[in-house]
Amino acid sequence: MDFGLAGKVALVTGAAGGIGTAIVHALASEGCAVALLDLKRSASLQETCAASETQGQRALMIEADVRSFDRAAEVIEQVVMHFGGLDILVCCAGITRDAVSWKLAESAWDDVLDVNLKGCFNYARAAAPALRTRGGGRVVNVSSINGLRGKFGQANYAASKAGMIGLSKTLARELGRFGITVNVVAPGMTETAMTRTLGDESKTAAIAETVLGRLCSPADIADAVVFLCSQRARQITGEVLRVDAGQYI
Ligand code: NAD
Repeated sequence: MDFGLAGKVALVTGAAGGIGTAIVHALASEGCAVALLDLKRSASLQETCAASETQGQRALMIEADVRSFDRAAEVIEQVVMHFGGLDILVCCAGITRDAVSWKLAESAWDDVLDVNLKGCFNYARAAAPALRTRGGGRVVNVSSINGLRGKFGQANYAASKAGMIGLSKTLARELGRFGITVNVVAPGMTETAMTRTLGDESKTAAIAETVLGRLCSPADIADAVVFLCSQRARQITGEVLRVDAGQYI
């Protein structure tokens, strides 16, 4: 199936992470040039960048902290200068700092809201004019099913992920007139560094919640992101697509 993504330019935040890496691979294999943003030029970021180039795509590594409003504007300018424009923004950078709400430190609340929610706002705000200049574009924000249902011990994370949904629906309303769609992918538990530290008990409980009897892989999430970035999803905006093996229902 042709997704109509060849020659598009995509920026992916959190590109060194499990899901971010899979998204970069998937977009590059559909013919996108990719800007890979993460906190550090880690070995995994360099590997993913090299793999995109091996697939014949142009790729650019960017070190940035999504919490910085000013840095977001610089990054978008850098991407536009390097590739000549920007068509797709995928906000995937995210963190957890779990604790039950009555023990949750103020810093744990602030850190999670700053990275997950403010980071997403920073990049959507900075990218909008560049997407508009291209006559349209795609924004896909990676939230979580825990933003839809809440989760014991994740008041900060669930609030940030629910906030991303409200933010995305607002952006969809504001940017639709410029041909820009804004959608959310809400993964269920996915096997990455973020969940590697969880005990077997949590994973078994998560699997038991699914109807398909299995956790998601990063590629499962990336496939949904690619679809929403594609021409095939041209009439879809303001949507929340759960990719969770039925964990939420
Ligand atoms: P991960 O920890 O493997 O990757 C997250 C990436 O974000 C890391 O590379 C990290 O360096 C980067 N990052 C963190 N803070 C940053 C900052 N301030 N600026 C720039 N980059 C920063 O996690 P993952 O599992 O790949 O998660 C990716 C996204 O998917 C997150 O937003 C997460 O909340 C969401 N998600 C994950 C799961 C899951 O089960 N793994 C489930 C639902 C949603």
